[in-house]
Amino acid sequence: MKREPKVPVDAKVLVNQYVSQCELLRRACVGFDEGSDVEALNIAVRLRVLLHDTKSSKSLLGQLQIKDRLPYVDTLRAEMPEPVIVIGSGLCIIEGTVGPGASGSRYKAPLSDEDPYRQHPPQAFVDWWREHVLTSNSGKSVSRADFVLWLANEAGGAHVDPSHDPAHLEFSSGGFDGLQVVSDNEIDHNLLFPTVRQIAYELETSLTNSVAFQDGEIAIVDPICSLSIESKLKLGRNDQCPCGSGKKYKLCFLKRRPRRKISIEELHAEMDAAV
Ligand SMILES: [Zn+2]
Repeated sequence: MKREPKVPVDAKVLVNQYVSQCELLRRACVGFDEGSDVEALNIAVRLRVLLHDTKSSKSLLGQLQIKDRLPYVDTLRAEMPEPVIVIGSGLCIIEGTVGPGASGSRYKAPLSDEDPYRQHPPQAFVDWWREHVLTSNSGKSVSRADFVLWLANEAGGAHVDPSHDPAHLEFSSGGFDGLQVVSDNEIDHNLLFPTVRQIAYELETSLTNSVAFQDGEIAIVDPICSLSIESKLKLGRNDQCPCGSGKKYKLCFLKRRPRRKISIEELHAEMDAAV
């Protein structure tokens, strides 16, 4: 049978799809938080549906035209000043137990951790999705997109791939930045699952903070400039911003703020306070 050409989906249908996908994401996160680690695979698939564009498929947030202007919550631990060595595992923390009956340590998603070093100005999608969030002991740097797509496309979220990205295998075995998880449970050594859980936390918080429903349509309350913060632009402050927002450069790109870094003074003050 010859197939008829596809027809565009109505905007209201897209909004309903958005509500459904957010609910599926929320349920997968609840399951994960209740101890079902494999829910990380479902989380990864929802994140892919919402965020990932390819040549043949378009993300749901992209179709709703909110993906590039959503201000994304960023909870990556702030960079330490040189020559301090960074100890951490990207978006995860390592939770340990001590004393009699201690079960070792494991990677964990910090979620709404109040750690001030994990609080940054919101980021544009292009930086949030593709920025390197962790480097392996062999020097491979990976992004949020890598973590989500490994679980969605290779590890059984949408399908099981017979071959894996070598970096995927390396990051599945744990041991980064000089830290090693101590546990008999294999899943504790895998930081992919809690990392993807943390990415879902960031996205859900971003959507809750910035998305509003108006007359059955979705809008962003305070849209962010969609250009990468690394963009090298030579413009006058009153020129139009090249991102297409229609705003002046000074009211769009120049309002972006980089991720926070920890200064050596700040670190000293903290050490003094701890003594
Ligand atoms: Zn702009």
